[in-house]
Amino acid sequence: MSVKPSAGGAAACHVCGESCTGFQPHSWRKACVSCGCSAVDHAPGSDVEEDQRMGRLLADSPCSHLTVKVKGGGGLRVYKRNRMIVTNPVVARKEATFNTTTYDWAPAGLNQTLAMQYMELIPQSQHPVLGTDGALERQRQLSSQLPAYDQDPMKCQSLASEEEISTMLLFVKSYKQEVLGVGEVALPGEGGALMEAANQRTAKDAKDGSHSGRKDAAAHQDHGSSNSATASATVSTNGTDDQTGHRCTGCRGEVAKESPAVYAERAGYHGALWHPTCFVCSECGRGLADLVYFWSGQKLFCGRHYCQTVWPRCSGCDELIFCQSFHTAKDGRTWHRHHYCCWKCGQHLDTPCQH
Ligand SMILES: [Zn+2]
Ligand SMILES: [Zn+2]
Ligand SMILES: [Zn+2]
Ligand SMILES: [Zn+2]
Ligand SMILES: [Zn+2]
Ligand SMILES: [Zn+2]
Repeated sequence: MSVKPSAGGAAACHVCGESCTGFQPHSWRKACVSCGCSAVDHAPGSDVEEDQRMGRLLADSPCSHLTVKVKGGGGLRVYKRNRMIVTNPVVARKEATFNTTTYDWAPAGLNQTLAMQYMELIPQSQHPVLGTDGALERQRQLSSQLPAYDQDPMKCQSLASEEEISTMLLFVKSYKQEVLGVGEVALPGEGGALMEAANQRTAKDAKDGSHSGRKDAAAHQDHGSSNSATASATVSTNGTDDQTGHRCTGCRGEVAKESPAVYAERAGYHGALWHPTCFVCSECGRGLADLVYFWSGQKLFCGRHYCQTVWPRCSGCDELIFCQSFHTAKDGRTWHRHHYCCWKCGQHLDTPCQH
């Protein structure tokens, strides 16, 4: 199934289908006034927007090697998303024809065989194949797990003072440096090779500064080809003992030696690895979109749920609350004071309205 915008050009709702006339943004809630569903339930933004958002998130983090400088963008970085095109010959015909499948995303730095083994380990419904529900689901998970308004004060509507803005900027800076990471797929015992290769490249770039611009430009055109041999030449095993086997940090089950697993640099490469289906947020249990994780208190989180362990989130506008005074309901849910009201008529929630 492919998703098309509705006739009016506004994005139709994935949940309501035809009954929503297209996304009509509410003034402060991240929701549609015509159907009430959230913005992410409507067809997501363009790939370009998404890659810019991801680029901004990963820049200034240990994962900045997954971004490239925008040409003439004054230091702006964009996500170097790893698309993968798989070509299979169709055998049932006399003339050789080929079937190509495009994956909107695949783990970085793997050869295609290993990347396909990884895909086979996650449910088919989550395969981000271009034009399918799996690709749409990936985009929805990215928007919901990594909301733009958890990363950039410019995307927030509810920051009320300079002080709140600087509190947020400090928070974002510290999670990028200390908590955020992108999982790496490798065979058990081989985790860390990608990061090592990236570090070597960075060191080389620093030494050989005059060439770095040219290199970035080349990398920018490098979409499509997934198997740029980033790591293969510099693979170093990290000395895990084969005799003891490898256990998944998530389910404690065994990870077969020939089966790709996910490593997280923040958790260390010695002993911590996950089955691809166990690499999930400890709060919502969802698979971590594009393997972007937040590591805190020895647990994996998606961005949304990590941020909520540090700051309350407003149940009205869905933004984090950086001010001292906010409303907490009996069930523990929190609101900006001025958002504790019916989003249709503005009535205070303690006095119920017909909505
Ligand atoms: Zn809807
Ligand atoms: Zn709608
Ligand atoms: Zn597991
Ligand atoms: Zn979560
Ligand atoms: Zn709010
Ligand atoms: Zn109302």
